[in-house]
Amino acid sequence: MEFELWYLILVPILFGAGWYAHSFDQKEKKSTSDETKTLYRGLDLLLSNKKDQAIDSFINLVKTDPDTIEMHYSLGALFRRRGEFDRAIRIHNHLANRGDLPKKEHNRAIFELGEDYLKAGLWDRAEATFVKLTEKESSYQALAARKLIFIYESEKEWQKAIHVAQMLEKISSEMMPSRIGHLYCELAEQCLHRGKAEEAVSYINEALKVDSHHKRALFMLGNLQEKSGKLAEAVETWLRLGEINPDYETLVVSRIANGLIALGDKERALQYLTHIVEKGKNIDELDAAVQVISKVKSPEEAIELIQKRLEKRPSLMGFQRLLELSQANEPENKQIAELSRLLKQQVDKVARYQCTKCGFATTRFQWLCPGCRQWESMPPIRSEKVVAR
Ligand SMILES: [Zn+2]
Repeated sequence: MEFELWYLILVPILFGAGWYAHSFDQKEKKSTSDETKTLYRGLDLLLSNKKDQAIDSFINLVKTDPDTIEMHYSLGALFRRRGEFDRAIRIHNHLANRGDLPKKEHNRAIFELGEDYLKAGLWDRAEATFVKLTEKESSYQALAARKLIFIYESEKEWQKAIHVAQMLEKISSEMMPSRIGHLYCELAEQCLHRGKAEEAVSYINEALKVDSHHKRALFMLGNLQEKSGKLAEAVETWLRLGEINPDYETLVVSRIANGLIALGDKERALQYLTHIVEKGKNIDELDAAVQVISKVKSPEEAIELIQKRLEKRPSLMGFQRLLELSQANEPENKQIAELSRLLKQQVDKVARYQCTKCGFATTRFQWLCPGCRQWESMPPIRSEKVVAR
């Protein structure tokens, strides 16, 4: 018999043992009590794999003895973990509909029911259940709000997610400016998708009102400023992003340099790129810098810079860029072209952005990890050594 099924059977056995000992201490033991019989019958049905009938038997037990509620929660959780959602729902639904339970237990049953619906993929019902819990003050109000945010984020219902997140900030001490900022940025992305740039800017401003150092909002604002011809403002916005977190500057190195060049400030652009190369924190940043240097100054100078870097910190991405630059310098050299092609294939295979929380790795940078649904858990820097977690 599989381990979890044993566990399922152990729950009523352990409960029965505790119950028996408790009765013994109290000198109230009645070996032939109706409750004991019902418990044994439920166990017998579980052992015979007649789980639905066992649930009926246990449900009868809670009617006569409210002390069995904990056992019901344990059984419900086990059924849910085993993927037997209909059974978990039956148990929790029964508890949620009992009129004689204390308020806290009643809310707990509703919360567990919401969890069942969520795990079973019945998201509409889960949402309705958690909404019900957020409408009244209880210790489950904040828990239900967190579940609702998860649901709305997964369904891309950003406005609803913002509403619940703001409510959660009010009812708990949990402040979430970065998360709310991202939700506004998602609304801005939707507007951009529909070609409504002005609306997008107003959402980005909302994000910056909530969190003036919001990296994504600044990144998007710079892009929009660039699109609307405000290039000088865009460059300043992107530079601010680097001041807040140098890692995120990687996303805008070439934008800043190209922006300065387009503004006629080539000298400042070169100073900036030299600073990036000297800083040389990550290969993606350096890669972006040498690409611009190759165009603005010369491929030879870019090659020299990347060679210096490779001497200190060899990397596949660095070698690939070196070969690409060399190829541009010697377009007739077929050996370099072939080597560059092969190395690019290898880099595409191994270079990944990786979530620091769950280890999810991807070729495309994302603000929200698809694996663990955490915001900003994926640094905007690729790694050639993806670590299994
Ligand atoms: Zn993750």
